[in-house]
Amino acid sequence: MRIKAFIAACMALCLSACVTTNEVTGRSQFITIPASQDEELGLQALNEVKKSNGNVRTSGRDVERVRRIGERIVRVSDKPDLNWEFIVIDEPVLNAWALPGGKVAVYSKMIDNLTDEELAAVLGHEAAHAILRHGAEQVSRAQAQQLAIVGLGAVVGATTENEKNAQLAVALGSMAAQGFVALPHSRNMELEADHVGTIYMARAGYNPRAAAQLWRKMARLKEGGGDQPTFLSTHPSDDKRIARIEGRMPEYLAIYGNR
Ligand SMILES: [Zn+2]
Repeated sequence: MRIKAFIAACMALCLSACVTTNEVTGRSQFITIPASQDEELGLQALNEVKKSNGNVRTSGRDVERVRRIGERIVRVSDKPDLNWEFIVIDEPVLNAWALPGGKVAVYSKMIDNLTDEELAAVLGHEAAHAILRHGAEQVSRAQAQQLAIVGLGAVVGATTENEKNAQLAVALGSMAAQGFVALPHSRNMELEADHVGTIYMARAGYNPRAAAQLWRKMARLKEGGGDQPTFLSTHPSDDKRIARIEGRMPEYLAIYGNR
């Protein structure tokens, strides 16, 4: 009984210590990783992807296009000073992802099918995921679930802070190598990234109407293609997110118009 109470106390302590208020959204987030470690975690995970995937491109026409649009967006975002890096994965897949610390990847099928403004909507969305620390939040949730399952073992087995973080980086890297499919963002995180991402694209001078247009096009491509649309399958229904974006369009257009 005493041991159980001890574990409960440890977990309560951790939970309260790890709840932070996001400075952009004002939402409370449960995150066990300090923001100061986002860069190291993301970079290590990105290196893992580069090592394990032979289709990663860091130069060439597509990379230049993604970088040009991406940099224009992050410059007016809430975190222009992250070490932003944009890569292309040359695979016929409709997908994109972001790692902690601002490491963003877009797959070539996405690039080939989108206009600059639609691509800006994708990059705004992914930049928002990194800025809002959704990856770190997902990892923390998974960790907490594991802690709840493993219970005493995890508490007793807890190693030093450094060892714990090293283990975390390896886990994150292998998840990223799989396109993060093992750990999809929650529906709310997706809607949050849509909202903040559309604000960023509007600030950068891209017409925010392209955000709704992007999801209509994605729905069409999804119907037509036989591939695995991971970017879509882990996201809320297209109708719902288009309705949300359209509903706030006056707000986005005001930002676009008032630059
Ligand atoms: Zn997303």
